[in-house]
Amino acid sequence: MTVTYEEALQKYEPVFGLETHVELGTTTKMFCGCPTTFGAEPNSHVCPVCLGLPGSLPVTNRVAIEYTIKIGLALNCSIASWCRFARKNYFYPDMPKNFQISQYDEPLCVDGYLDVLVGGRTVRVGIERVHLEEDTGKSLHVGGATGRIQGADYSLVDYNRAGIPLVEIVTRPVPGTGFLAPEVARAYVTELRDLLRSLGVSDVRMEEGSLRADVNTSLSPRGSDVLGTRTETKNVNSLRSVERAVRSEVSRQAEVLDSGGRVIQETRHFHEESGVTTSGRSKEEAQDYRYFPEPDLVPVAPPRDWVDSIAASLPELPSARRARLMSAWSLSELEFEALRNAGALDAVEATVAVGASPADARKWWLGELARRANDMGIEVSALPITPADVARISELVAAGSLNDRLARQVIEGVLDEEGTPDEVVAARGLAVVSDDSALLSAIDEAIAANPDVVARIRDGKVQAAGVLVGAVMKATRGQADAARVRDLIVGRLS
Ligand SMILES: [Zn+2]
Repeated sequence: MTVTYEEALQKYEPVFGLETHVELGTTTKMFCGCPTTFGAEPNSHVCPVCLGLPGSLPVTNRVAIEYTIKIGLALNCSIASWCRFARKNYFYPDMPKNFQISQYDEPLCVDGYLDVLVGGRTVRVGIERVHLEEDTGKSLHVGGATGRIQGADYSLVDYNRAGIPLVEIVTRPVPGTGFLAPEVARAYVTELRDLLRSLGVSDVRMEEGSLRADVNTSLSPRGSDVLGTRTETKNVNSLRSVERAVRSEVSRQAEVLDSGGRVIQETRHFHEESGVTTSGRSKEEAQDYRYFPEPDLVPVAPPRDWVDSIAASLPELPSARRARLMSAWSLSELEFEALRNAGALDAVEATVAVGASPADARKWWLGELARRANDMGIEVSALPITPADVARISELVAAGSLNDRLARQVIEGVLDEEGTPDEVVAARGLAVVSDDSALLSAIDEAIAANPDVVARIRDGKVQAAGVLVGAVMKATRGQADAARVRDLIVGRLS
């Protein structure tokens, strides 16, 4: 890139939007009774309906409708009292019917929003629509170097995924986030993932494709509110990639515009390794799909009292949880973000629930435990230590039985599967030496060995006692309580 992101931002305002596809976690498919479990033998979860065989008729999955209404309500949308499915016509080998049952001008949920927190600031992302459709199958291109169809010897198609209920959540264009646009895009997908997880409607695994984001990006010249031509970046399979895709498109489009060119409306592919996008196909317009109402399905007309009962059953949503925890733990927005971004929110909440103070729980999970998770290359939540273990270690520190240095050794022992914190303390002999007579003999040795330091302390330079404290800590192999040692030294010399 010859135009850096920073240079691009001086001349242009980025505007992004996201289309997120979520596979619902229903036990059966959208219009038939086939199971939806991931990873089954290819083409073992198929039937005449999801294979599109002549004469087969679809029946709408009620649970999928319920889940979609849940998502719409959680995103502050209006729920349609009557809407229809539509046929979206196009030809693709992984789509056995040669049309997809989707929703077009009558989506189930419209006009909502999701608030996301970035850099201590709340950005409201408008939700244009939430609609329900069916997923396609999967093609596997064999024999080429890249796994793409170009250069492949042959292709295989697996229809297990065909017909799995898929919800598409479309935002309005998000202007005005300036330099933060890539981070806001990432924060939106993160918040949406957490929201969907809290609703229990999907397992939201980006790496398995049950949550997939397409990122639309355009540039407006600074000071103009005319939207530029947008591109749609596909294949964005991780939260980090969402951020990188926006960043890379901003630089690329700025370069095109600066050289007098025109941004082409097209889909682009994001490449994980290089972090750049390449041209896909020119974007179809709605008329290319020849939408019309699906004649084989009855309209969807969710009764008001059903929608109300779904609304009443919604769990605590991430935004409410954020407000509750920030207040209960006296956190700033930045402190809360640090916890969320470290993936430590659940662990800290569980640690507090079994008795640790919020400050202690945060200290261990964001400090020593985050560092160890990073060393091991795993999520902090995957560490082999329980919230109860962490609470117990905090308790031992608060009681003066462990100091921080010993507590880190206990954590190491628990992570090495040597047992519970108490078992590690016993097996490794890690308790703080609290017996004053044992400490006093070490103190007397330190005093005898450092007459010059003693003289300075007696001259009133009390901070010189640090040297003696250090000597005692060394003599007790770190197992003394430093504050207690200092008190004893000062008492001994006064
Ligand atoms: Zn089926």
